[in-house]
Amino acid sequence: MSDILWIQGITCNGNTQSFLNYPNMKLFLKKYNFLYHPYLESSLNVVQAFEYEKKFDFLIIEGAVSKDFIRAGVNFYEKVKNLAKNAKYIIALGTCATYGGIFKEKDPEHITGVLYDKDKENGLLSKFKSKTFNIPGCPTHPQWLVFTLDTLNNFGKILVDDLSRPKEIFGYLTHHGCTRNEYFEWKVDSKNFGEKEGCLFYLQGCRAPITHGSCNKILWNEVNSKTRSGSPCFGCTESSFPRNNMFETKTFMSIPADLPDGVSKRAYLTITGIAKAFHIKRLKEKLM
Ligand code: SF4
Repeated sequence: MSDILWIQGITCNGNTQSFLNYPNMKLFLKKYNFLYHPYLESSLNVVQAFEYEKKFDFLIIEGAVSKDFIRAGVNFYEKVKNLAKNAKYIIALGTCATYGGIFKEKDPEHITGVLYDKDKENGLLSKFKSKTFNIPGCPTHPQWLVFTLDTLNNFGKILVDDLSRPKEIFGYLTHHGCTRNEYFEWKVDSKNFGEKEGCLFYLQGCRAPITHGSCNKILWNEVNSKTRSGSPCFGCTESSFPRNNMFETKTFMSIPADLPDGVSKRAYLTITGIAKAFHIKRLKEKLM
């Protein structure tokens, strides 16, 4: 059994709620023991958790941090530093813990992620960087967390990108695996939210071609994703989240302000110009 101590900083509870929907929880609890979790049965209460002095396996931090944030009557940041020393691995869970997220909008100067402030290192827990892993998402998919825990538990290491995110999850773009890829390629717009037809990139704010994550590869509740159900990807795994007007594509002279990752303006204009000229009748029709 590996021990997990799950603490909450400045958070809406979203990652906890998402994790509670993990479909194989019984199996998970045969491998992992919660020293503390805010909702699940655990051996310590929150006060004891912050004072825990022994070595343990995983420290999971949900929510943003700030140097003066008080939780359970103690200075959260000071206690996290102590816990971090004794943890074998640290996981910053969710976009707030990774970059500061939505709460950072309220107090941009003081609120930050565990390792990063937006996409810059903040220096708060830098000395633990080699054992800290970021799993952004608003919320994080429960299987992303379990995959990371299992990989670290079984192999003692995991490949990460330059924002300390596991590559197996964040090496992909959310666009990969969307059922609308053919509409994207032939530049056929979705006309309304919730429709099965068309791509949401050109008008409705879909950030999936610029966003790293596996939402269309590891489906939510094992059945669906935002874009499959007709809602745009909001780019919640990136440090630029949140943005204003998330249901709109910002354009200049009809060209999206943010182009797909690695695609130049010239390449975009050439490819979309050609694709649009073909008017493929099948892609303009209702699917059913
Ligand atoms: S809706 Fe979004 S994820 Fe799907 S194909 Fe279009 S851009 Fe890609």
